[in-house]
Amino acid sequence: MNFEDYRGVWVFIEEKDGAVAPVSLELLGAGRLLADKRKSQLAGVIIGENVNELARITLEYGADKVFVYDDPIYRFYRTETFMKAMLACVEKHKPEILLYGATTTGKDLASAVATDLPTGLTADTTQLDVEEDTGLLLASRPAFGGNIMATILCKKYRPQMATVRPKVMKALPRNKGAAGEIIEESIPIKEDDIRTKVLEIVRTTTQRVRIDEADVIVAGGKGLGGPAGFRVIHQLAEAIGAAVGASRDVVEAGWIEHHHQVGQTGATVTPKIYFAIGISGAIQHLVGMQNSGLIIAINKDPGAPIFQSSHYGIVGDALTIVPMLTEAFKTA
Ligand code: FAD
Repeated sequence: MNFEDYRGVWVFIEEKDGAVAPVSLELLGAGRLLADKRKSQLAGVIIGENVNELARITLEYGADKVFVYDDPIYRFYRTETFMKAMLACVEKHKPEILLYGATTTGKDLASAVATDLPTGLTADTTQLDVEEDTGLLLASRPAFGGNIMATILCKKYRPQMATVRPKVMKALPRNKGAAGEIIEESIPIKEDDIRTKVLEIVRTTTQRVRIDEADVIVAGGKGLGGPAGFRVIHQLAEAIGAAVGASRDVVEAGWIEHHHQVGQTGATVTPKIYFAIGISGAIQHLVGMQNSGLIIAINKDPGAPIFQSSHYGIVGDALTIVPMLTEAFKTA
């Protein structure tokens, strides 16, 4: 493999509700820094239907160019179609680094692409850097129960690929009207060759505000005692328009679905305000929320580790305090 053939930093641009997903904008910000260090170009890869507007936005958020696969066959995300397009693009234009958001789609696509390339994939990274002279990507993520940061290198193959957690990188300010190259690409692909068909898209209604995008999160832990106690978390979240978060123990106990889980094996979140209620503050939970703007803990144990990481703490029974807070917010 001749490394000289591989140039540039690429970001898979994910579409969400007709717009560029926030994590893709964050990756363009991170990718811009890496590309500048390498004195190379930053490119977006967009796969979808009618994506001209997304391509323009990608340039306005820092990309020098965008590769676009625009076809009705890409209307909905399917592993097979997107993987074929991405593999063709990688083979033709050879990026040195290729980044995806660690979202359901990004993780699925990245791992599918990795199975077909002789390269690796670093999953769920939270820090990125690049060696200026060698182009070696330094992709770091929490390891060993969140106790250390592991930096994972891909020394022998290109492209170097990583998925990156939402909300850990910073998007650049939008530069409206920024110019750049839009490169239209296509591959021979027919509906009949694709084994999966999308019959219907059913949106879940259980979670009004997503935790990875929320400004305020009310998170509950095992201290709430059970699903009935956990209801006070939903009530407070509802009263203040917040998303509901949870510790892993709560998810494992089946009180709430996994997509609410915060922490090492859940989501990394950075809301403006994070309520940690009946949560002890295990390191695996802290790595997922410790960069929140303001952390407010409620715990009946004054020695609970969560108080070390919070800005405000209330010592007491959550089942008494949280309903009082909810009432106070409702009448405020
Ligand atoms: P507990 O540790 O049982 O804490 C309950 C807290 O509630 C206690 O502090 C207690 O004082 C308090 N309490 C009890 N009753 C009340 C009351 N009435 N009012 C107020 N407070 C009360 N955990 C995560 O959260 N996210 C992860 O992503 C994650 N990933 C993991 C990955 C690995 C590899 C491992 C090994 C563990 C992981 N964990 C994760 C689990 C983690 O180590 C902890 O076990 C978990 O976070 C504890 O959940 P908890 O705080 O809800 O429960």
